[in-house]
Amino acid sequence: MAKYIFVTGGVTSSLGKGIIAASLAKLLQARGITATIQKFDPYINVDPGTLNPYEHGECYVTEDGAETDLDLGHYERFLNAPTSQANNVTTGRIYQTVINKERAGEFLGKTVQVVPHITDEIKHRMLLLGKEGKYDVVITEIGGTVGDIESLPFVETVRQIQWELPEEDVMVVHLTLVPYLKAAKELKTKPTQHSVRMLSEAGVHPDVIVCRAEEPLNDEIKKKIALFCNVRAGRVIEAADASTIYEVPLKMLEEKLDLIVLDKLKITNYKEPDLTKWTIFLDKLKNPKSTVNIGLIGKYIELQDAYKSILEGFIHAGAMNEVKVNVVNVHSEDITKENVKDLVGSLDGLLVAPGFGNRGIEGKIVAVQYARENNLPFFGICLGMQMAVIEFARNVIGLTGAHSVEMDSNTPDPVINMMEEQKAITMMGGTMRLGSYPCSITENTLAHKIYGTTSINERHRHRYEFNNAYLNAFHEKGMVTSGVNPATGLVEIVELPNHPFFIGVQYHPELKSTVEAPAPLFVHFIAAAKAYAKK
Ligand code: GLN
Repeated sequence: MAKYIFVTGGVTSSLGKGIIAASLAKLLQARGITATIQKFDPYINVDPGTLNPYEHGECYVTEDGAETDLDLGHYERFLNAPTSQANNVTTGRIYQTVINKERAGEFLGKTVQVVPHITDEIKHRMLLLGKEGKYDVVITEIGGTVGDIESLPFVETVRQIQWELPEEDVMVVHLTLVPYLKAAKELKTKPTQHSVRMLSEAGVHPDVIVCRAEEPLNDEIKKKIALFCNVRAGRVIEAADASTIYEVPLKMLEEKLDLIVLDKLKITNYKEPDLTKWTIFLDKLKNPKSTVNIGLIGKYIELQDAYKSILEGFIHAGAMNEVKVNVVNVHSEDITKENVKDLVGSLDGLLVAPGFGNRGIEGKIVAVQYARENNLPFFGICLGMQMAVIEFARNVIGLTGAHSVEMDSNTPDPVINMMEEQKAITMMGGTMRLGSYPCSITENTLAHKIYGTTSINERHRHRYEFNNAYLNAFHEKGMVTSGVNPATGLVEIVELPNHPFFIGVQYHPELKSTVEAPAPLFVHFIAAAKAYAKK
């Protein structure tokens, strides 16, 4: 059996529980302790797959095709290990399971209640990953803020687990905010005291308090928090603002969060932390030799979280190339044939982003055309790849009405078509082509140069596909389909050999980019942008 760490948050949301959880897991991993992280989200959606990016940021997809919270992306980027369906659980999924059991008659005539039936299901899922025998420690991040009505059943379940398991097998890390009042020139501990009191009223006692603070916490403040919140001295630590999220593990190492945890959980078989790869990366990240300007063409650019994994992919690839990647957000709705040069003409590369629906589509197509005709490095992801296909069909092959059936169901040339197995689907949730699929790469292509192999696996999240009825027309005019699904023949990668760097992929390479294994496509795209910038 694994040991369990629960991470709760108080005072406000957006304190970075996910980053603290990921940093702690990283430190344990660096000490030879295997850890995984899971997230419990309090909303009723069964998963975030049906949520608009404006609501909840990017929807992250795991190898096994779960549509999950974007924090799972942080877990994977930090740990360089895959998560799965089991790592993200929502209230909606819990209730769905319990209600399905009730309909099947499994409760044998009993009244089905929040306690114990809902909390039993939560408990089952909270403890599940720890029973696989794969992990020494399972870290569970509880979404939301302590005191929210909707997270109460999660907190109640943590209470039960805290009393049911041996003391050395479970602990609670509570993350709070210690605001600095400029007028008073003082750090204020009261919000932290209140949030811990609220947690205690629910019966859960934190073992460690991690304080987000804009000003350094002195010993006096730490002692005060320890005293008022009933936590051992030395177990109140500071999480100061960092210049990058990738610095947080090192800050937590300085604060000895890992040692506090190992001590509380009575884990003794650990080694000195090995963070060599991590610090090399951080060093490169902090000391870039030049800058490249990359246009991110999308329709959710007002909300940075909507493109989280892409932005992190740029950070990983920038460090590999020793450049700072300056992302210039370009709203696809703003781009027209007339202004495209002004908007993107001075950039070193364009990434046309994934997305759904009609808004901003024509702007994306104009951006692709500009990149193609001006030898500007181009990288299209999912919808971005589909736009590259449409642009080529319209402007090179001459199919002027070519489109995706997603945007125009009556297009005369559906170069992007709905997949056969999608046609009968009426339910929206969890029904796209999701998760990891193999892709065979043709030798002597750009894709082959980038990956250095003929066989890869990448993650998908889409309903529409390149229409193979048009394959010959594309090949004749010089677009190369350099990656296909070996089983179905679905086109996964398109590229233009007479261009310095023009590639579009139907899958999402950003989802597999980690600090220790940056996505090859991102690394090569940034390298191409760097070469372009030099010219
Ligand atoms: N809307 C497109 C599809 O469903 C692209 C999806 C995406 O970019 N993730 O195929």
